[in-house]
Amino acid sequence: MANIIDGKLISMDIKNEVKEKAAKLKEKGIEPCLAVVLVGEDPASQVYVRNKKKACEYCGIKSLSYELSGDTTEEELLALIDELNNNKECNGILVQLPLPKHIDENKILLKILPEKDVDGFHPYNVGLLSIGKADLKACTPAGCIELIKRSGVDITGKNCVVVGRSNIVGKPVGMLLLSENGTVTTCHSKTNDIKFVCRQADIIVAAVGIPKFVKGDMVKEGVVVIDVGINRMENGKLCGDVDFEEVEKKASYITPVPGGVGPMTIAMLMNNCIVACCKQNNVVC
Ligand code: NDP
Repeated sequence: MANIIDGKLISMDIKNEVKEKAAKLKEKGIEPCLAVVLVGEDPASQVYVRNKKKACEYCGIKSLSYELSGDTTEEELLALIDELNNNKECNGILVQLPLPKHIDENKILLKILPEKDVDGFHPYNVGLLSIGKADLKACTPAGCIELIKRSGVDITGKNCVVVGRSNIVGKPVGMLLLSENGTVTTCHSKTNDIKFVCRQADIIVAAVGIPKFVKGDMVKEGVVVIDVGINRMENGKLCGDVDFEEVEKKASYITPVPGGVGPMTIAMLMNNCIVACCKQNNVVC
């Protein structure tokens, strides 16, 4: 039976660490601040934004909220980003994705100053990540690494297999595992014999978007499994990209869905706000 990695607990530890750092910054007269921008009325996005604001409140990070109507133009949104880029009070800018179809997401993400890009999506920060020098790392991938390390698993020298190569999860997770001295293989939809590749893995990160994709016969005994997948099933329940019941029997550590990677994303976002704030104010945190 595997050890279940408790993402709720680990994310709470991280938020408490952030809270302490925010309090220390306040003693120095610095108030960390995140601007959260939502365009339109997508219910899922509204929930994400609400949770991010709640986390800010918990951690002692000020949040500036911009809830814009769905017919906001690209120019208007770019103008708001420009204003926030120039606002010294604001340390981080988060634009909730997806944006309405008439707005070019790429253009918006490029407009955010890299030092305020707390999502870690700006190509400048992605570039820094690839050379192992990023301060602001993409939140979900950074959360995966924290889950592994805080479970006491040393990544150095391990065979790490990432299933998925998206720009927001698979690729950055691979780069972070490499920075931690893992030996990394990335699989995708064109990979030959994924089962063989996965069976070599000491650590598997699954970010495929297919429910229960990683089966028990695809993993070796003792594997550490991080399941990034969030799939909504017909019965309304959430399901990961890993067949938990099968894989748990062989794994040494495994994340559940929900309660694994999910809560880590916001915790790492809070952490990035502090990192950005410290950097902008030239203080060590
Ligand atoms: P994408 O759809 O962008 O990428 C999926 C990746 O999986 C692609 O690289 C694709 O390969 C690969 N893939 C698809 N089918 C197969 C297959 N049959 N065999 C091997 N590889 C395959 O998804 P994301 O990376 O955005 O998200 C992945 C999962 O993580 C989703 O369930 C998503 O909901 C979840 N997620 C969770 C987050 C969290 O906070 N916990 C945050 C972000 C995502 P190819 O490139 O060849 O098409």
